[in-house]
Amino acid sequence: MSRIHVIGAGLAGLSAAIAATGAGRPVTLYESTAAGGGRCRSYFDTELGIRLDNGNHLLLSGNKSAFAYIAAIGARDLMTGPRNPVFPFVDLKTGREWTLRPNRGRFPWWLLFAGRRVPKASMREHLDIRQLGREWDDTVMTETMRHSSLYWLLLEPLSVAALNTRPHEALACLFGAVLRETLLKGGKACLPRLPKEGLSEALVDPAIATLRNRGADIRFNRRITGLTIENARVTALETTDEPVPVEPADSVILAVPPWVAGELVPGLTVPNAFESILNVHFKTVVKADPDIREAGFLGLVNGTAEWIFLKPDHLSVTVSAANQLIDRSAEDLANIVWRNVAKALGLEGARETEMPPYRVIKERRATIVANVVQEERRPGARTAFDNLTLAGDWTDTRLPGTIEGAVRSGVTAVRMILSPPKDGERRRKKKLSPNDN
Ligand SMILES: Cc1cc2nc3c(=O)[nH]c(=O)nc-3n(C[C@H](O)[C@H](O)[C@H](O)COP(=O)(O)OP(=O)(O)OC[C@H]3O[C@@H](n4cnc5c(N)ncnc54)[C@H](O)[C@@H]3O)c2cc1C
Repeated sequence: MSRIHVIGAGLAGLSAAIAATGAGRPVTLYESTAAGGGRCRSYFDTELGIRLDNGNHLLLSGNKSAFAYIAAIGARDLMTGPRNPVFPFVDLKTGREWTLRPNRGRFPWWLLFAGRRVPKASMREHLDIRQLGREWDDTVMTETMRHSSLYWLLLEPLSVAALNTRPHEALACLFGAVLRETLLKGGKACLPRLPKEGLSEALVDPAIATLRNRGADIRFNRRITGLTIENARVTALETTDEPVPVEPADSVILAVPPWVAGELVPGLTVPNAFESILNVHFKTVVKADPDIREAGFLGLVNGTAEWIFLKPDHLSVTVSAANQLIDRSAEDLANIVWRNVAKALGLEGARETEMPPYRVIKERRATIVANVVQEERRPGARTAFDNLTLAGDWTDTRLPGTIEGAVRSGVTAVRMILSPPKDGERRRKKKLSPNDN
């Protein structure tokens, strides 16, 4: 049977390989590094002597594609999270603490209770979230939001986390898409979910094991350096060794980052602006308040640190859209972040002043910038070449660069191979761009 060659073993490539083998197709998976996971991975930090994730990755129960993938790789039990939707926050400027507690059902009765919603924000303002992103090029932050506590205490932190882009340029339609699949569907769709152990243990290793069980040929340390294209088809994959022939009925899914895809595929326009994410891991354990323990994390506003995650043997802190900070020294960054952590968690005395051992991980190209210019540069799955399909969180998924988008793009690429759309059925983008197909 015709083979599907998947290039890149990040979540998009793994999802494609799982979908393809699930449909009974033989798969070869090529990954340039020694392990899968790409931007979503764990490793053993020899200096701290603990296992770390490159960065905290939060899923919400409404991330349907991600959870279908997790079910397909048999990893449901490897994820954890609270029974009910719970989002504790602290404002570092005012010291105010609050916990957002949506009810589980679709009808949002939780908004009737001031103690469950954002402080100083009315029920009406909460309901207005549904209007976000009416025009496709609206940004998350608008003039009218400048004085709204709902904006500063909820929309700003959530949109920066979900879009990894500052709200004055972040596209509201992408944020709206995330909210419509989660918070706006009711509390059952916004249960926070995190890996029990690590990202690789929950999202990568079980996928590799499933693929091996299904007979997939997995080649680590195998960088694809070029595509041989003849008569609008990929006929071979170039590597540093022998080229790998692509038989006439075979297909190729390219699930590499955009800058690699741009080099490999002639004439392809790809996103070319990126935002960083900074993670600081502190080797210490803190006994936090019950709401924080219930959630497993705490959201911070008016600080540099944005989210603190409680891990069994460390605290892990995330700062998104961090391009402006990323060139500062690791020590500086750890100091700034630790001061925020100590204040947020109410640490006093030596615990406040003595920073625990730390590791700073700078992901410089964590995701594409979620703005209008980059949105127009996101290509669909289909390419100008008959047997070549694209996947990755940066393709036109109608979602920001997230696990949900990456996984969905892998499934879309496989669907396109198994049942290619007829010309008339091709999807249109919101605006015409050079990549429209
Ligand atoms: C610090 C951080 C925090 C994040 N937090 C969240 C979060 O909380 N929630 C969320 O949903 N998302 C989050 N994300 C985004 C999420 O990690 C990505 O959307 C997702 O992992 C992208 O997967 P991908 O497969 O599209 O790309 P990648 O992970 O980049 O995978 C591409 C793969 O291709 C391989 N490759 C590259 N070139 C070649 C080549 N020439 N030949 C063969 N292989 C090649 C790479 O090594 C890599 O394994 C976060 C990202 C970062 C960096």
